[in-house]
Amino acid sequence: MPTFLDIGVLDLLGHLYIFGFGACVGSFLNVCILRIPLDISVIHPSSRCSCGIAIPIYHNIPILSWFILLGKASCCNQRYSFRYPFVEFLTAAFFTIQWSLFSAPLIYVSFIFTFILIVVTFIDLDHLIIPDRFSIGGAILGILLSFCIPEMHAVLEPGIQGQFVSAFKALIGVLVGTGICYWLRALFEILLGKEAMGEGDVKFLGCVGAFCGWQGTLFSLFGGAFIGLVCILPILAINRILGKRDHDPMIPFGPMLAFGAWLQFHFFRDWTNNYFENIYQIVVLN
Ligand SMILES: [Zn+2]
Repeated sequence: MPTFLDIGVLDLLGHLYIFGFGACVGSFLNVCILRIPLDISVIHPSSRCSCGIAIPIYHNIPILSWFILLGKASCCNQRYSFRYPFVEFLTAAFFTIQWSLFSAPLIYVSFIFTFILIVVTFIDLDHLIIPDRFSIGGAILGILLSFCIPEMHAVLEPGIQGQFVSAFKALIGVLVGTGICYWLRALFEILLGKEAMGEGDVKFLGCVGAFCGWQGTLFSLFGGAFIGLVCILPILAINRILGKRDHDPMIPFGPMLAFGAWLQFHFFRDWTNNYFENIYQIVVLN
């Protein structure tokens, strides 16, 4: 894996190109995040300001436009959220990192997976839902991609046999991810007396399993929850110190799962697989 210091001029141009491509994809993700929960087409009409006026293309440059316009719409001077350039930058940064990690065909899968994870994260933050087209649709897409690209699950068998093994691993990932999340949800509901996770989270972990395998669902679930708690506990503590004791916020779990899944797919696949392989050797073969 090359570091950023090793890359030459051509590689640097390649990375810049991918960063720009990622920023444009991020701009489209903003449209998806805004429109899909409202059941509006993501293609038509073209991008509009909240006042209804179409945004001209020269004011719709990913990341840059927000800074050029100082966060104010050119048509009506209304402020618009910093989240738009943030999502564009996040997508661009993720795509650039992925470009350093993977080559074809795995890079295409990683772009698609990141697309799903970012949209799910922000729709869940905004609406506390995960649309079925990303959870169920993502699981089906993950199985199909696994069949076409067995590298997703590090399958070594060549030819059609390897393709079926890979698709089968994805299917196991869907079932394990969904099953574990379902049982945890049921247990927490009994222990806490209220819903701790949504049904969308259960289906979404199935989608993660299709892309990351069953081992990946465990990392995504527990790693994501750990990272989420590390981030959220200080906020809850500050709320308590400030006297907002009756403030009982609904915390979406989708973003934590998504971040765990992104880390797993791009950095921890080998580590997680080896970890569970060792447990298998100890528990089953002894
Ligand atoms: Zn406007």
